[in-house]
Amino acid sequence: MDHGSGMLDVVLKPGRDRPLRRRHPWVLSGSVASLRGDPAPQPGAWARVLSAEGETLGFGHYSPASSLRVRLLCFGKEEPEDGLLAERIAQAVARRVGHPLIGETDAVRLVNAEGDGLPGLTADRYGEVVVVKFTTAGMHTRRELIAAALREASGAAVGLERADATACRREGVPVREGPLWGALPDAPVAICERDRRFRVDTLRGQKTGFYLDQRDARDLVALLAAGRRMLDLFSYSGGFAVAAARGGASRLTLVDTSREALDQARRHLAENAVDCEAEIERADAFQFLRGRRDIHDLLVIDPPPLCRHKSEVARGARAYKDLFLHALRCASPGALLLLFACSHHMGPELLRKVVFGASLDAQRPLRVLRELGAPVDHPQALDHPEGAYLSGLLVEA
Ligand code: SAH
Repeated sequence: MDHGSGMLDVVLKPGRDRPLRRRHPWVLSGSVASLRGDPAPQPGAWARVLSAEGETLGFGHYSPASSLRVRLLCFGKEEPEDGLLAERIAQAVARRVGHPLIGETDAVRLVNAEGDGLPGLTADRYGEVVVVKFTTAGMHTRRELIAAALREASGAAVGLERADATACRREGVPVREGPLWGALPDAPVAICERDRRFRVDTLRGQKTGFYLDQRDARDLVALLAAGRRMLDLFSYSGGFAVAAARGGASRLTLVDTSREALDQARRHLAENAVDCEAEIERADAFQFLRGRRDIHDLLVIDPPPLCRHKSEVARGARAYKDLFLHALRCASPGALLLLFACSHHMGPELLRKVVFGASLDAQRPLRVLRELGAPVDHPQALDHPEGAYLSGLLVEA
């Protein structure tokens, strides 16, 4: 293990060992009673976590600047082996290979942080390019080892680091972006998901360039779209609109505030040989819905997180309800709506309540046809409920 002789010991306050005994991988700063051992622990150093009574509970990466002071990678008394990260990365990549529920695509999330036992690490593969995000000091300081493991496991020609500026600030690590291995792509990377073709701007696009977490929902939209007038609200680069068009939608309306995203969406529609009338509107979705009364039969509403913190839940829930209420007013009788919330604080139960509230106010009874969520390459660890961030409902008006 790469900790030298002075392993850092993080001793918890009495009673704060409970979540860890349930294998929850986070130690909050407020749970720490004292530090022992290494007198000058580096950000990202290995830490042994002990209960107030001195029992070793597990080992993880230390983040001195973060309110999540340690992210555990293993539980129990046994020290982690040197090759732990490389082994977990290899296993995560192997689990995706040929997975029947991922199906035909060359764009896959290879590593999903806590969901793959690797808090602080995400890696998305787009063809020959793997886009990597290190969101903890522990992963950030091991970038080279991780890059080598990802390169080996994926066999991809290029590795590219993208930074999450908020996470870097929280962790006290520098914002770095650029090549990890291979030569940077000089154009967006072409991917093919089922029969849908996209060009992913891995250097500048949102997240790592594309919303891989909506693949299952795109499949669903393709199945449901035939003959329907489709509204893709918060469209980004038009993933849902392309799916609807391929599925035989009769008309498309895309709305987003980002000019770059809409330019990409326009190209995506053209490149997918979509023979379907498309209106692409740069607008605030909330205002768009208030101003327009066009009727749609298939509505996808996939906003950015409207509540990022616990304290914002009440306000966020009102914003979601307002959005869904206005969307219902331009939904035809029998319309299908896919409604999403991508915040852990807005889980499936609260989403149902919010949709119910909108349904009451609009005096439109709704039937829930299906619960929606992230696909299998975004697994969630049962011991880490915060990993379940995407909730959705397919409802029929
Ligand atoms: N549905 C997309 C992902 C949506 S992400 C997909 O599957 O690819 C959220 C999108 O909402 C982003 O593209 C962002 O530019 C856009 N956005 C943020 N605030 C907005 C607003 N007030 N009105 C319209 N679009 C907005």
